[in-house]
Amino acid sequence: MLRLVLLGPPGAGKGTQAKRLAADFGLVALSSGDILRGEIKAGTAVGKKAEGYVKSGTLVPDAVITEVMLAGIDRVDPGAGFILDGFPRTVPQAEALEGGLAARRRPLDAVIDFDMNDGEIVRRIVSRRSCGNCGAVYNLEFLPPRVPDVCDACGSALVQRVDDTETTVVTRLATYRRQTAPLVAHYEACGLLRRVDGAAPADRVQLAIRRIVESLGKRG
Ligand code: AMP
Repeated sequence: MLRLVLLGPPGAGKGTQAKRLAADFGLVALSSGDILRGEIKAGTAVGKKAEGYVKSGTLVPDAVITEVMLAGIDRVDPGAGFILDGFPRTVPQAEALEGGLAARRRPLDAVIDFDMNDGEIVRRIVSRRSCGNCGAVYNLEFLPPRVPDVCDACGSALVQRVDDTETTVVTRLATYRRQTAPLVAHYEACGLLRRVDGAAPADRVQLAIRRIVESLGKRG
């Protein structure tokens, strides 16, 4: 049972690769951002707590997101593997995850870091679009839909996330560098870290991740 974390700045392609990995290896992808956006849309108590942070591009409190993600993991069949996309994002979250997974006897196999520089991140984020219906993610420059503004998968209209603006990106990047980037050293120290070039085309990143997964010698 493969258990992975995708780590890296916003816009580096974690969501796209999480979906591809899930399809390739039969894993369940848990995206913290997607889960929070779902809670906000549904107007739940978690959604109400998270909304202001998500809109401004700052991090939801550790205790809130950790509880949400561990609950998500508990809904994954114990016989299935999973991919965490966007979680953990701080050292305390990583520590809480480690404890939570150890208690469940479901430890991580690897953490894949998507390396990317700030200029490239901003370019990617402002041209990112997603399907308002099925959540498929596109990029007007790098991964365009076949028909402009229409989802390849389900034909619905593409939309831009409210936090994918140039001003919010600056906050999200600063948040990433300050609070999340230290996780690279954290996971390197425990021998779990693997790196991919986030700026490479999506197909190439997918291949690189597939090689990493195969090198772990486990099945989905
Ligand atoms: P994302 O879709 O991963 O870019 O996440 C969108 C927003 O959700 C972030 O800017 C944060 O406000 C919030 N968020 C997602 N994951 C986390 C996390 N692990 N910790 C705290 N906040 C998070």
